Amino acid sequence: MTKKEQSLDKEKRNIIFTFDHELFLGEKSGTPEKCMFLPYSHLKSVFNEFSVEKAVFFLDTTYLIRLDKEIKSGLVAVNLMDKIQTHVRELLEDGHYIFPHIHPHWLNAELKENGMWKLTNFSKYCFKNCSSEEMEVIWDKSIKILNRFGVNDFHKIDAFRAGGWGIQPFKNFKPYFEKHSLVYDFSVMPGMHGYTEAQQFDFSDVEWKAQYSFSDVVTEEDKNGSFVELPISIRRTKDSLREKLLLKYLWKTGNRSFGDGIGAVPNKIDYTPKKIVEGVDMVSLDLINAANFGEHLQLLKDRKTIQFLSHPKMLSKHSIKMMKKFLSYASKHYSLNFDFRDVH
Ligand SMILES: [Zn+2]
Repeated sequence: MTKKEQSLDKEKRNIIFTFDHELFLGEKSGTPEKCMFLPYSHLKSVFNEFSVEKAVFFLDTTYLIRLDKEIKSGLVAVNLMDKIQTHVRELLEDGHYIFPHIHPHWLNAELKENGMWKLTNFSKYCFKNCSSEEMEVIWDKSIKILNRFGVNDFHKIDAFRAGGWGIQPFKNFKPYFEKHSLVYDFSVMPGMHGYTEAQQFDFSDVEWKAQYSFSDVVTEEDKNGSFVELPISIRRTKDSLREKLLLKYLWKTGNRSFGDGIGAVPNKIDYTPKKIVEGVDMVSLDLINAANFGEHLQLLKDRKTIQFLSHPKMLSKHSIKMMKKFLSYASKHYSLNFDFRDVH
């Protein structure tokens, strides 16, 4: 049997890599150099090795809106925006997608003397807490910036992920999906919920599916709906204590995230989810490690489609190593597709 025949024999698997490309969203933002550019250089070497194209980068456009404003006031240097634009160009030329990602609490971000930002005012963390005028401006400017970066010369801007998974209620987003011709949403994480003074989402009663159509409610399938949901994969966490210990060990031995900021630590609010689901976590390169690697391989066996949700700022040398190991196994045993548009 020739090599080509062997590869035709292999079963197909869709591995969709999605990234929330952003700074840290709490006490200290960190820098684009460490949170975006450096981790991408590590990702890029793995992408090249396994011919991965069409990875999805949800770029935090609310950060860029804020940066634009401060450039006009002279507080931030123009060359920072130029560097981000060059980086986006590189992602596009490498064959990846760039779509908007919205964290409205950038509206209240405070610029510190060291050039970093403080984002601890969570009053507008949820999109639903913005005024209708703010909503309109955020969307118009987000699309405008992506166009200015030349994204639409490479691909249609027709997909979205809400910051902090805050896509509910969808009625707040629907007018902008329609206005800007968006079709795909990547915000639903079946089985998971989160309720704090910042983020609020409840997908606990959603059953996992590779994709489904919807119209008004993002968690309810509507076969005639004009939008498509591509849910984030979740996995069973078999031994979370072992995972925690390993993470501690990795941290101590210098395998820390590339990013140089401090994330949001919002207070929890009492909340009863629609359904109690325990022992699950999202499938993410931020979390893949030697202790849970087997669970990821099991998922690959069980499902035709896996969607990873990762944050470049959260990656470390260990997660890059695990990603390589995962792709090496996957490419040996399956014929791989990385493009969400070809998930059927
Ligand atoms: Zn985000």
